[in-house]
Amino acid sequence: MIIIMFGPPAAGKGSVAGILSEKYNIPTISTGDMFRKYISNGSEIGKKANEYISQGQLVPDEITIEMVKERLSENDVKNGFILDGFPRTVKQAEELDKFLKENNRDIDVVVKLEAPKEELLERITNRRICKNSDCKAVYNTKLNPPKVAGICDKCGGPIVQRDDDKLESALNRLSVYDKETAPVADYYKGTERLYTTTLSERENRLKDVVSADIIKYLDLKKKKNNGKRNIEDECR
Ligand code: ADP
Ligand code: ZN
Repeated sequence: MIIIMFGPPAAGKGSVAGILSEKYNIPTISTGDMFRKYISNGSEIGKKANEYISQGQLVPDEITIEMVKERLSENDVKNGFILDGFPRTVKQAEELDKFLKENNRDIDVVVKLEAPKEELLERITNRRICKNSDCKAVYNTKLNPPKVAGICDKCGGPIVQRDDDKLESALNRLSVYDKETAPVADYYKGTERLYTTTLSERENRLKDVVSADIIKYLDLKKKKNNGKRNIEDECR
């Protein structure tokens, strides 16, 4: 199973990915988390990436695509994986398709999560994360605060706000999404891979409901494909 989580910053990609990752027993690969880990390690790639991330800009394709290809060459993705936050440009989408084709694989679904813009901005600025890069738990100061302020429920690590979640960079990220990332959805349109849905607290479409819908969609798609295969067999 290969799943792509797509959508604007704070759309809920990571939350839904967590649920699908358990359901299908496949790892989630978040390019944002990978970059943050490189940054906290003080590695070269982290230093370079941080120049862009701190401004709310995309990390250049050359760096990002190489990093993802390397990750997708590891053993634990053999049965499938979820990409959270990649591809974010048409170039990245093309390179991913090329890479998967070389390995005789294909994307099962690109999930596009939508939410009203004010809600996104509110989620971004209220978001807090656990600083421990092995934990990465995500909190929301209003909807899902930690039990003890400033301390992670899961690991006891410190809870911080990402620099790029502060208002100015957050606004920048939303406009970068509209300009550079939104066109990726057109790239997938018409290939029977794109599934668009809304995750919104205000509309009472929470992550469990959204995830259940995606699972239903994937079940149906599987049945349909099996049916197609049977018909093809009969015609032989
Ligand atoms: P969110 O989905 O909340 O915006 P992420 O953790 O996915 O945040 O990404 C944080 C930052 O990392 C992005 O704003 C961008 O600078 C960088 N980044 C992550 N994924 C990519 C990508 N596929 N291409 C370029 N930059 C990326
Ligand atoms: Zn933690």
